[in-house]
Amino acid sequence: MRVWKAGWTWRSGELREREAILVDEDGTIVLAGPASEVERDARSREAPVEDLPRFALLPGLVSAHSHCFQVLLRGWADHPRDFKDWVSRCLYPLVLALDDDSLEAGALLCFGQMLRAGITTVGEFQYVHNAPDGTPRGNDLDRLVVRAARSAGIRIALLRTLYDARAREGQRRFAEPPAEAAARTRELARELEGDRAVTVLPAPHSLHGASAEAIRAGAEIARERGTRWHIHLAEQRDDVELSRERFGATPLRTLAALGVLDERTVVVHGIWLDESERALLAERGVALVSCPLTNLALGDGVLDLPDLVRRGVTVGLGTDMNAAPCILSEMRAAESLQRARLFRMGVLPNEARPGAAPARSARALLELGTSAGARTLGLEVGTLARGEPLDALLVDLADPSLAPAAALGGEALLNAVVSSMSPQAVSHVLVGGGVVVRDGVLVSREAREAGARVARGAWRGAVGSLSS
Ligand SMILES: [Zn+2]
Repeated sequence: MRVWKAGWTWRSGELREREAILVDEDGTIVLAGPASEVERDARSREAPVEDLPRFALLPGLVSAHSHCFQVLLRGWADHPRDFKDWVSRCLYPLVLALDDDSLEAGALLCFGQMLRAGITTVGEFQYVHNAPDGTPRGNDLDRLVVRAARSAGIRIALLRTLYDARAREGQRRFAEPPAEAAARTRELARELEGDRAVTVLPAPHSLHGASAEAIRAGAEIARERGTRWHIHLAEQRDDVELSRERFGATPLRTLAALGVLDERTVVVHGIWLDESERALLAERGVALVSCPLTNLALGDGVLDLPDLVRRGVTVGLGTDMNAAPCILSEMRAAESLQRARLFRMGVLPNEARPGAAPARSARALLELGTSAGARTLGLEVGTLARGEPLDALLVDLADPSLAPAAALGGEALLNAVVSSMSPQAVSHVLVGGGVVVRDGVLVSREAREAGARVARGAWRGAVGSLSS
């Protein structure tokens, strides 16, 4: 057992002074509250105390939507003409050149970078299932990604994708007949059942990547296993037209017509859902994951996030293409985009509490990037409450990016964490009570060395494709 006692600690939605958290041998929080109470309890159990008055203890951040291998697009795929051009001349060539070593090294690089930025849980939407020539690999590549997550030390919800479109060359790495994809998803979920750091969720890819049969199969597995299921939906404006052509209805109405739209459904993006679809989304208890920086990079558009928040929809955040995986940046982008769109300020904190006095703190934003993101993955983390595993970050209050707010503490400190704190202020990161980043350095040697490893990878064969 061990006590973590910090200068400021997140509890019940605010930063509180001189609190502490008691953790058992499994890394589960058994007590959280005022330091005097927790220490009294800890003394009777002879638990050592980590006394860290110059640090703040915050819940670990959650990236609820990631494609880790896309870190390999950095630097050569940043200036295509548009989304379709990016897919044809960047994404698919990369996918076809990606060998196991590159996939694993890319995952280690991405997960390591996430941890250093305080992300303790990743929802990894994994759709590379076959060998480069299309030969099925079963769950081999999913296991490879899970292994990388374990090695780096990050908690992973593996969104095992069902994908059966195969018209284009790059898609041969993703495509599986729906029945086989479903059988493999069930197999992987059973294999990892009871694992404290890994969960498996089904994820039919999208309306362009998955047939009605694949979507229904994914939703069915979620129902059977009591999990959520994720799907990319209404990301680009064209997705609405495609949905009408292929399914005869707009994207969310298509899911409703397929009989799969309920509280287990999680929509990724949802930018081009119309008002009636957003109402339907709320009515059915559907959750949504937004990836603002990727949406900006790909020219997708801007989500009407305040409307969803007002309707009480659970919204999480994702780092998606992982150009610079950082949930603090996603929070800032999520809100700044709304300020620019609506010519107002403080949009999200205020609209998260309709009818109430104006919010003074960034609490609503921090919750998007922690507990709400965790709920979209069906995980109970992100609040530092009793019963949760201790997934947390220790923030150095002496970091210049927190001055002068650190001296004010409380709400001012929270506002600064959300709006100005540099990821360099993240000193230590804990996952399940274990230290995975110490003094800003990754504990995992494999993750530390991933940058050098990807630099030598076979994926580099893809790089010439953009100039062609
Ligand atoms: Zn995605």
